[in-house]
Amino acid sequence: MTTITGISDRVPAPAGKAAPERLLDRLADFLARVRPDGRIQFVSAQGLDWLGYEADALGKGDPLEDLLAPEDQAPVRQALTQAAGQGRLALSARLLRGDGTSVRVVCRVLGLAGTGAHAECLFAAWALGEVKAGLERHGARDDEPAPDGLTGLPTRAWLMARLAELTRPGAAQPGFALLHLDLDGFHKVNDALGHDAGDRLLVETAGRLKSLLRASDQVIRSGSDEFALLLPGASDEEAVLPVARKVMAALQRPFILGAGQAHLSASIGIALYPEHAQDGTQLFKCADVALSAAKREGRRRWCVYRREGSEALNRRLALEEALYDAIQNGEFEMHYQPIFRASTREMAGVEALMRWNRPGEGFVSPAEFIPLAESNGLIGFLGAWSLRASCHQVAQWNAAWDTRLRASVNLSPAQFRDGDLVTKVREALTESGLAPACLSLELTEGALMHDPAEAEALLLQLRGLGAGISVDDFGTGYSSLAYLKRFPLSTLKIDRSFVQDLERDANDLAIVSAILGLAQALGLHVVAEGVETEAQWAVLTDKGCDLIQGYLLGRPVNAQTLHDKVEGGEWLLAR
Ligand code: C2E
Ligand code: CA
Ligand code: CA
Repeated sequence: MTTITGISDRVPAPAGKAAPERLLDRLADFLARVRPDGRIQFVSAQGLDWLGYEADALGKGDPLEDLLAPEDQAPVRQALTQAAGQGRLALSARLLRGDGTSVRVVCRVLGLAGTGAHAECLFAAWALGEVKAGLERHGARDDEPAPDGLTGLPTRAWLMARLAELTRPGAAQPGFALLHLDLDGFHKVNDALGHDAGDRLLVETAGRLKSLLRASDQVIRSGSDEFALLLPGASDEEAVLPVARKVMAALQRPFILGAGQAHLSASIGIALYPEHAQDGTQLFKCADVALSAAKREGRRRWCVYRREGSEALNRRLALEEALYDAIQNGEFEMHYQPIFRASTREMAGVEALMRWNRPGEGFVSPAEFIPLAESNGLIGFLGAWSLRASCHQVAQWNAAWDTRLRASVNLSPAQFRDGDLVTKVREALTESGLAPACLSLELTEGALMHDPAEAEALLLQLRGLGAGISVDDFGTGYSSLAYLKRFPLSTLKIDRSFVQDLERDANDLAIVSAILGLAQALGLHVVAEGVETEAQWAVLTDKGCDLIQGYLLGRPVNAQTLHDKVEGGEWLLAR
């Protein structure tokens, strides 16, 4: 039987045998995915911010030309048409900035996907070195980006220019601290109390931050619910930690928002100049890495950038570079982990798990590359490919073995928000011939609760196609019970963290029992994830969990191995 591995027709392999030239030798200042007609498919928020636009100023369907100086529109359009398919081209152009000025950039246009309606190009742009240096020399005064409309604070574009200025070689700058701050739970306020309340909260936050700091310090609104603090003179932990402590305390006081009240906290990442990095962009990334660490460690805390973080950062940058080539070279493959009926231990389905098989490095964990692909928009390709490949594969197995195995496919939040999702799922089903009832789409609570009303409408459309919806990692995110009842769900997947200590931890047992009870009341299936021991299996089966996934009964394997295990009778098919 045939198996599908590697990236198929959507992403062409490079022409010729020569090792592909390193395409993107460093991260772009501006990055967009566009169709050959110049319509934007995805534009990186960071790129828009760099040009001084709001994140939603330009989006899917808008013409890239809106960002180009008039005389550069025709050449870029021509480059896109030429590159669509296999090509790659470089040219120079001027990008229009939010404040009406423009910046000269070098652009690279890279044909990413197949032909016809699917053709797409990657448009990456870098500011020319001289232009950057010029801006820095003039302190960026001439074209200082406009302040944020809501809070009146300077924006991220201002911050980046200021950082470049402070860290330029020869600057007589004694040292400073950069704090990057993210409001924990801001989205909940927006959802529960409305956007007006959310806006008031941001204004109040800006006010509290400003009132804490000295006149020489600077507060910046660096993202929707993110702020940055620039503290001149604070070049070591001893100087900066008291400020972090004050900020934390100030933001934990309740926010009174009209009729409602909100209790928030913050996660803060701290980077020090010159200790952690000698240039502005790098320093910003250090603060960002530290912020991610603070969030990972449970939020409501600050983290100072650490050297291990620097290795992690370098690896992240190297990975991101390699990701572009990997897509061109088809280095991805799908693995499948069996999902068994708890009572009979028969295989009822598989979860499709993506693998990046990096030459010379082995498998890179999806936990590492999926977040990267999400941040630069490449998840659109990878996700669509994983959906198609898994549908094809499971349809083949079902035909060959006369079964109805379910394919569970992970959808990232970015894919869920992509307007084309329903079309992509419909196409994957039609092309592969997989029975729609045999497809289950896995979404996390976060993806669903981000905008519950919109999610509900989308879920209804997906259910309308006949596919099922699973809530992945259930219990680790934030769900409203009211929505769980309203959403047309089919399955809850109990997160591995609750299963791990099931035999020993009474709390976990209580949580798992409650999830099973809830699922029963709502008429949902339950898959327990990460089942590694017979004892866990026994408890789960006893409590009425109907489906089991985990190393005890089967690890993720490639399509050929799964085929062999089924044919060899190791994994029995449910009839
Ligand atoms: P997930 O959706 O929670 O997938 C289950 C993860 O648990 C898989 O990790 C699987 O290998 C692992 N696992 C399964 N059984 C056991 C067990 O008994 N013990 C332990 N310790 N681990 C177990 P994996 O393959 O590394 O995937 C990590 C995450 O990456 C996935 O978590 C999912 O969120 C994401 N991911 C993987 N493939 C895709 C994809 O095609 N698209 C998207 N959007 N995300 C994907
Ligand atoms: Ca999953
Ligand atoms: Ca999971």
